[in-house]
Amino acid sequence: MTTTEPLDVQPTPLALLLLGREADPRSERGVECPGDLPAPSDPDLVDRARKAKARLGDRVFVLGHHYQRDEVIEFADVTGDSFKLARDAAARPQAEYIVFCGVHFMAESADILTGDDQQVILPDLAAGCSMADMATAEQVAECWDVLTDARIADVTVPVSYMNSSADIKAFTGRHGGTICTSSNAKRALEWAFEQGTKVLFLPDQHLGRNTAVRDMGLSLDDCVVYNPHKPGGGVTPEQLRAARMILWRGHCSVHGRFSLESVQDVRARIPGVNVLVHPECRHEVVAAADQVGSTEYIIKALDAAPAGSAWAIGTELNLVRRLAKAHPDKQIVFLDKTVCFCSTMNRIDLPHLVWALESLADGTVVNRIEVDKETEHYAKLALERMLALP
Ligand code: SF4
Repeated sequence: MTTTEPLDVQPTPLALLLLGREADPRSERGVECPGDLPAPSDPDLVDRARKAKARLGDRVFVLGHHYQRDEVIEFADVTGDSFKLARDAAARPQAEYIVFCGVHFMAESADILTGDDQQVILPDLAAGCSMADMATAEQVAECWDVLTDARIADVTVPVSYMNSSADIKAFTGRHGGTICTSSNAKRALEWAFEQGTKVLFLPDQHLGRNTAVRDMGLSLDDCVVYNPHKPGGGVTPEQLRAARMILWRGHCSVHGRFSLESVQDVRARIPGVNVLVHPECRHEVVAAADQVGSTEYIIKALDAAPAGSAWAIGTELNLVRRLAKAHPDKQIVFLDKTVCFCSTMNRIDLPHLVWALESLADGTVVNRIEVDKETEHYAKLALERMLALP
């Protein structure tokens, strides 16, 4: 595939889920809320959240991902990216309940990294991640069979992005691979290429391609895209044998929306603007940007930016809006003209948070996310390899 090929837009159960019309049991996300949610119009919601949190005291620790709504972030004890939040939770063993305001795979990672006596709660079970859903355990097992048939499985090291289900992390651990974040993807790939000659990068093709080509000097020709919806991944054994990076055909539906035209357009509208994008964006967007980095990198870059400077940011809109508010002395705009929230992140709203906190305060554990022991063991192995990266 070339990087200009359109994203995979086949209708899947995911689209129906996003419309709230169907539940997909194979999805990494869950199903509808089992409880009585307070009405969004309830004027006491803020007060109820405060009171429930106060009743729980140190027994609860609320984590807020950077892409969450303001109304939810207000109640977060810490904010951060998924990996930082999971580590923050592990550093709070006194917290019996970890309420994760984020998406399903993040709550799974928190469950893997926290103690057995800590329970992780996801306020809305339908808050999944479309990217994580693009690689299922069955599809990845089938891919490994294809690599085995092509006689390259023994020289291929899986590297999986944090944004993947616990099953995919466990697959990675079982096959000698590591997890990476958008901050340490280069180090993870360098390590992987010391262990083998090829990398199977899951599930975000863009992060894999951008890291290999932009940061490590590989060429686009060194990469092939494995499409789980096509027999044999849509590639020949010869192509697999010739490639160094085997990229899973997955992407983030939020970051995948930014285009080269978005960059050209903002440069024409705001002369001298600095374009700063997340590495989950398409390769041509990353190539045209001035800076590329994780959400933590973006936050630090804007903190360090001089007053009066202009920035166009290619990441989730809740975060960009908060950054613009926090830096009134700088011009900070969203890279695209159209509004682009992460719809599943946005599912966690104040009514769901109030419902989860009040239920816990009343002694009922709701929406617990629990990874089974075997999956946890192998997923932890992959996460520990990441923690040990030089
Ligand atoms: S922003 Fe993208 S990668 Fe992050 S949770 Fe939403 S869909 Fe998944």
